[in-house]
Amino acid sequence: MTAKEIIQKMDSPSKEDQELVTKAFNFAKEAHKDHQRYSGEPYFIHLFETAKNLADLGMGATTIAAGLLHDVLEDVGIKDETIEKEFGPEILFLIQGVTKLGKLKYRGAKRHTESLRKLFVAMSQDIRVLIIKLTDRLHNMQTLGHVPLHKQKRIALETLEIYAPLAYRLGMRRLNRELEDLAFPFVYPNEYKKTKEILKRKSKETNDRLEKTLNSIKKALAKEGVTKFKTDFRVKGLYSLHKKLVRKDMDIEKVYDVSAIRIIVPTVADCYKVLGVIHSAYRPLPGRIKDYIAFPKPNGYRSIHTTVFTGDGGILEIQIRTEEMHREAEYGIASHLSYKEGYIRKETNPNILWIMNLLRPQVLGARKNLNQKFVDVPQWIKHLAEAELSKEPDEYIETLKSDFFGHRVFVFTPKGDVVDLPIDSSPIDFAYAIHSDIGNHIAGVKVNGKLVSLDTKLKNGDIVEIITKEKSKPTTKWLDLAKTTEARRHIRSVLHIAEAKG
Ligand code: MN
Repeated sequence: MTAKEIIQKMDSPSKEDQELVTKAFNFAKEAHKDHQRYSGEPYFIHLFETAKNLADLGMGATTIAAGLLHDVLEDVGIKDETIEKEFGPEILFLIQGVTKLGKLKYRGAKRHTESLRKLFVAMSQDIRVLIIKLTDRLHNMQTLGHVPLHKQKRIALETLEIYAPLAYRLGMRRLNRELEDLAFPFVYPNEYKKTKEILKRKSKETNDRLEKTLNSIKKALAKEGVTKFKTDFRVKGLYSLHKKLVRKDMDIEKVYDVSAIRIIVPTVADCYKVLGVIHSAYRPLPGRIKDYIAFPKPNGYRSIHTTVFTGDGGILEIQIRTEEMHREAEYGIASHLSYKEGYIRKETNPNILWIMNLLRPQVLGARKNLNQKFVDVPQWIKHLAEAELSKEPDEYIETLKSDFFGHRVFVFTPKGDVVDLPIDSSPIDFAYAIHSDIGNHIAGVKVNGKLVSLDTKLKNGDIVEIITKEKSKPTTKWLDLAKTTEARRHIRSVLHIAEAKG
């Protein structure tokens, strides 16, 4: 393990970049020298692998350094001040973010998964924190076999329910697939075995067909004068296949995209040309032509998909895309971050839909008709897009911090359930969000273990405990403190009854 191995993976790092990564490498190695993984290996391996994962994603020196240092605050008791002095406030901010996220635990209550995903996003405050956390989790999943049994399932389930879907929302499909397939056998061992067997039975047939079809496509393209292209193929991830099989009555013959051929060409016009060549050589399946170039998926995914009869009784999916679309499809938002500072790359045409999707998945999930893709874009998204075009990276990051993450707060019950509230909400809003009976009998409130007044504004990550008394009742003052309509409605109704009685 050397710092050089990380630096070699970086995209033209400057001398300063190399020095920063080397310094963080040495610092982390020293800090964790007496610390081991469950496997008995030096703990530093984990940080080294996380940093390599980040470099593979094209992240810059600051993020890689933070990746190397991400466990020093929590695990070996290095002080915040020391990090700030050695590495500056930005790296400290990133490490603190990763440490905070590490404290959130998924307890397996399905109804809270969406809140918890949102909480992750809100608490990360900077997309780089989320990306470090995802690569950290990737290595932890790669070594999950060494973790005590009782912990394995919890961690794997959390990966499946929280981390993998987040990677997907960020458009990071490769990471999403890796996380899912690593977690799958720990969470659903029987289904995993079954899916693996089904795939194995199918793959000989599929592989022969893939090779044959690919060769004949290459010939057809050459005949039409298309010479600049690359081909590739992908086999569907096991977990993703499992989910699809469940939807298709476990019948593998109904799953057309077990494996798919990819054709990567220089321009968008080439994509349509290739589609034409393929459709004149093979009969396409009706209703299976999907133009995600004209109509990108909500997470930003672009490609043309078609499914064709291969002529030997088989069916095969073909995906056509440009190099840029390919990079985006695999690395998602990471492919839009500049190698230097983690800002959005200016030259890429920003598809901000996936940023929206990240925060407003429920809205996008419901939006089936992609023609209305910009209909209900809130004002702050428009500002985001403008900031992006204004080519002021600092401004962009500021907008991201204040608007992107600033509209909701996510707080916990003492049991760890997540409650999602508008910004500036009070403990009264929290209490009514739990249950009207609790709201109607608030006697006091503790935030993070300390008694506070009812006008306290709740902050992300606060643990809120409501103390109730049968005799306590809402007052008119509560109306001023309550922010949610739900709380205000209950308070009004109680006050009205009380007035009527008096
Ligand atoms: Mn870690």
